[in-house]
Amino acid sequence: MMNSFPVDIIRKDFPILNKKVNNNKLVYFDNAATTQKPNIVIDSLSNYYRNYNSNIHRGVHTLAEKATQEFEETRSFVKDFINAKSENEIIFTRGATEGINLISSSYCRGFLKKGDEIIISEMEHHSNIVPWQMISKEMGLKLKTISITKSGEIDLDNLKSLLNNKTKFLSIVFISNTLGTINPIKKIIKICRNYDIKCLIDGAQASAHTIVDVQELDCDFYVFSAHKMYGPTGVGVVYGKENILEKMPPYMGGGEMIKDVSFKETSFNKLPYKFEAGTPNIGDVIGFKESINYINNIGRDIIEDYENTLRDYTKNKLQKVDGLNIVGTANNKIGIFSFTIDKVHYFDLGLLLDAKGIAIRTGHHCTQPLMEKYHLDGTARLSLALYNTKDEVDYFIESLNKIISK
Ligand code: PMP
Repeated sequence: MMNSFPVDIIRKDFPILNKKVNNNKLVYFDNAATTQKPNIVIDSLSNYYRNYNSNIHRGVHTLAEKATQEFEETRSFVKDFINAKSENEIIFTRGATEGINLISSSYCRGFLKKGDEIIISEMEHHSNIVPWQMISKEMGLKLKTISITKSGEIDLDNLKSLLNNKTKFLSIVFISNTLGTINPIKKIIKICRNYDIKCLIDGAQASAHTIVDVQELDCDFYVFSAHKMYGPTGVGVVYGKENILEKMPPYMGGGEMIKDVSFKETSFNKLPYKFEAGTPNIGDVIGFKESINYINNIGRDIIEDYENTLRDYTKNKLQKVDGLNIVGTANNKIGIFSFTIDKVHYFDLGLLLDAKGIAIRTGHHCTQPLMEKYHLDGTARLSLALYNTKDEVDYFIESLNKIISK
């Protein structure tokens, strides 16, 4: 599969990949933080601001109608991309983080009471920890965490032992941004269905790397960010089952989310606008459509195959590096490799690799409780995307070996 994947052609779509960094060709391995953008996304942003910049939904003039149509078309693309039932189930936010805050605030305030329990896991990103801590403190809810195994997999028996009739919500990451683990989401949701538990999936790392079908998963909510799937920053999506979103109170108040306002009483707009107060990130939402188009045109199964081959190649090479320890060795994982090296601190490693044009991530990756679990304060992290190549991995390994042997 690897040979037939047109990676050379794909690379030409991403202008930044031609850049030199510190006199070396850029090798971008920080894709879990954010992905690079293809020309069609960059051009779409420019085209919007040059030719039809306008506020949406309110105007009758030509530019407003064009902007509204393009914006709403993205909603329809997103609906198809994750196989939601209706556009009413797709809410635009600033990112996955805002999405989780929206759900935790609105759902808990609407439906939970003091003493109710919420479950997250030990491998969550801070975005899927802190909002739950905040609402739990405010409302007197109890927050529990599912433990993970040494290899970085969810302990399903531990999950089962945490559930009871007070458990009302589970929020869990699909693919860990630190470990790369692909969690058995369908199984986890099925377990929760034995109780009256709503399930939110943090899909921030999943949407660019695997096929997501929210109906097949049967999740109640799903959140993700455009910038991790070759789209613009500042755009995220909340998917929610329509019958649940209907009953949830609004998250933010303001223009757009209302039907009628008076000083006596305000009525709220229908879905999805009830959750989209204020002027949204119009240009970037429109650009997001092009990134979805880009992924669809290549084919998600084809991308997944290529990335899996590259993942295996990288793993094999990393395992041969002297003194390198991979953190997160689950059987089912994507091309995200957190690692430490006996002789070199991860921070120094990041700087030394940067001098060679290689961009990796260093630190706790917004998963401090997970780091604590592994008795670490941080790691180096290499994360792959569809435009990375075997040659880049070879150059990385060669550079790493040179650094270690000094
Ligand atoms: N969850 C996970 C697993 C992530 O990797 C990230 C981003 N690093 C987020 C949530 C938050 O996404 P954003 O910063 O785009 O809101």
